[in-house]
Amino acid sequence: MKLDFKDKKALVRVDFNVPLDKQFKITDDTRIREALPTLQHILEQGGAVIIMSHLGRPLEKKNEDGSINREKFTLQHLVKHLKKKLKTKVHFADDCIGKQAIKKSAALKPGEVLLLENTRFYSEEEKGDQEFAKKLAALGDIYVNDAFGTAHRAHASTAVVAQFFDAQHKTFGFLMEREIENATRAMHQPAKPVTCVTGGSKVSDKILLLEKFLDYADNILIGGAMAYTFFLAKKGAVGNSLVEADKIKIALEFLKKAKNAGVKVVLPRDSVCGDRFAPDAQVQVTASNQIPNGWMGLDIGPKAARQFAGIIRKSQTVIWNGPMGVFEMPAFADGTKIVAKACAAATKKGAFTMVGGGDSVAAVNQLKLAKKVSFVSTGGGAMLEFMEGKELPGIKAIKD
Ligand code: AMP
Repeated sequence: MKLDFKDKKALVRVDFNVPLDKQFKITDDTRIREALPTLQHILEQGGAVIIMSHLGRPLEKKNEDGSINREKFTLQHLVKHLKKKLKTKVHFADDCIGKQAIKKSAALKPGEVLLLENTRFYSEEEKGDQEFAKKLAALGDIYVNDAFGTAHRAHASTAVVAQFFDAQHKTFGFLMEREIENATRAMHQPAKPVTCVTGGSKVSDKILLLEKFLDYADNILIGGAMAYTFFLAKKGAVGNSLVEADKIKIALEFLKKAKNAGVKVVLPRDSVCGDRFAPDAQVQVTASNQIPNGWMGLDIGPKAARQFAGIIRKSQTVIWNGPMGVFEMPAFADGTKIVAKACAAATKKGAFTMVGGGDSVAAVNQLKLAKKVSFVSTGGGAMLEFMEGKELPGIKAIKD
């Protein structure tokens, strides 16, 4: 953040979509804590902060009479917590545009904070409406985007609003900078050997990512249910495993492309199978291409986990997206656990390891290994799209 915020009003888009309990108490303030460095920096420089965020999906979960459930989705729930964290005055405007927002932002003094009401109370937000974005833009002198989690959406407050600020008056926040820097570091000229690990449920969700990995990976390790579509494509027996039979051609084409590109694709040689999709299922380990009928592969097997871990530990760069099995059930969590530990071991030996985009982040947090890898993305879908090589509207809007 190179801009000078002294005596300026910074309109900052953050992702304060935090989980709340039934009494509307914050149960996990990670997203707030992650935005604090940006907010504190602006305040310390003598600027004022106007915060925009969404909270939940108020337009999809309306009251029975069709009105917005303000009680549930108001950002007012966050005011007390923010005051405590920022140690300054936090005002609240009960609308993100309109008279009150204008009046309160105009009266805001350096060092003070104004939290605007949920941007998603307006359908114009998700539609990326120009007029709405213009009204938001009018509240501040400088626009700061620190909401990486919504950077893949062309919403009014995450992208369109930036059109109303010139290059000297818009910037990324620290969190956003860090996400972009780390993902870019991993994808562009990474230290070799590079190992990309992917898992999760569907080939169709990850095929673009897999194809992008071919640009820079030496090894691609495929776990999760995705692997069984590959085994099916190679005419293996996959029992009742979750597969996408209509993606067989795509899977075979990918394997061919990988071969031509000289990238080693490793599928799990064995699997931990269950007789049903349940935590207390009967369990047996089989070769991944010899799964009996009535059984389904729910985790990579011990031999595969050892092989994956060995490759990861020898890598200089590791990018991991997607769990190796149904890690939510302890009986099928070992593969994911072993991969996470191997990432931690590689990091200790000096490798750059990045976990991003979805459930593998939850797995790493659950295993308390987040601090033992180089970088854990907060981005979910945004990180997935960034790694697929797509241009994210929230990033493009600041750069243009
Ligand atoms: P994704 O959102 O695509 O990363 O998928 C994550 C989900 O895939 C998790 O909820 C896992 O439980 C699930 N998953 C991983 N491996 C398997 C498997 N072998 N069979 C069924 N579901 C799986």
